[in-house]
Amino acid sequence: MNKHCSKCKIEIFTTKRYCKECHASYMREWRKAHKVEKRPCTQCGDINVEVYHYDYSSPLEPVWLCRKHNEEVQAYLLKNRLT
Ligand SMILES: [Zn+2]
Ligand SMILES: [Zn+2]
Repeated sequence: MNKHCSKCKIEIFTTKRYCKECHASYMREWRKAHKVEKRPCTQCGDINVEVYHYDYSSPLEPVWLCRKHNEEVQAYLLKNRLT
């Protein structure tokens, strides 16, 4: 079943709720709204982090992960269908 971005309604091929662009702007807004301070990757301490949180509808404490560990978590969630 195809999914559609819940913001701009274009067709998306990901498990996420938004297309890439809307996701990026969503994250910017979310960060602004929550005044999230960047912290090093919780796995390896890398300071080049990307925020990652598990549930967009009810954001928990943001989990800070570097690109590598972020991808690992995404892959893990995909594999286990937790998204
Ligand atoms: Zn969109
Ligand atoms: Zn890391």
